[in-house]
Amino acid sequence: MEIVTYPEEVLRREAEPIADIDDGIRELADKMTEMMFRAEGIGLAAPQVGVGKKMIVVNPEDDFHILINPEIVERSEEEETLEEGCLSVPGPEAPVNRAEKVVVKGIDLDGDEVRLAREGLTARVLQHEVDHISGKLYIDHLSDAERSLVLREYRKLEEESKEESEGSSL
Ligand code: ZN
Repeated sequence: MEIVTYPEEVLRREAEPIADIDDGIRELADKMTEMMFRAEGIGLAAPQVGVGKKMIVVNPEDDFHILINPEIVERSEEEETLEEGCLSVPGPEAPVNRAEKVVVKGIDLDGDEVRLAREGLTARVLQHEVDHISGKLYIDHLSDAERSLVLREYRKLEEESKEESEGSSL
């Protein structure tokens, strides 16, 4: 399992809801958690590991959660703009406007309902990850001009890392 990057098609698809929490789902949760920590990320959604299912893992400020079928049920009118990046668009960052507070509903691995009311960084990460399972990326929140800047930087970094890995394989 690897982190898939833009413009992989799975990142652009609405993920499937999870009906049964079976061993496969538990294993997916373990792998996603491991990958999030390894990548030093603070959140990861199943489409980012190539799996079109509604699961996210988050760990901003040690507020760790695995959520199945998460949805945002409330958002504050107050918004906040902060720099954001994404493991699936590695490299660039750009300011994204999001609700300052949200309430997210989902279920945990035991099938119990979870309701998280969060603000600040955690609210931002939850919105970013719930976007992922709807096929949305943070760059979709940017103006056309900002998005093309971010994508230009991303492609440049991608080229450079490709050249580097080609070089080291000689
Ligand atoms: Zn992301």
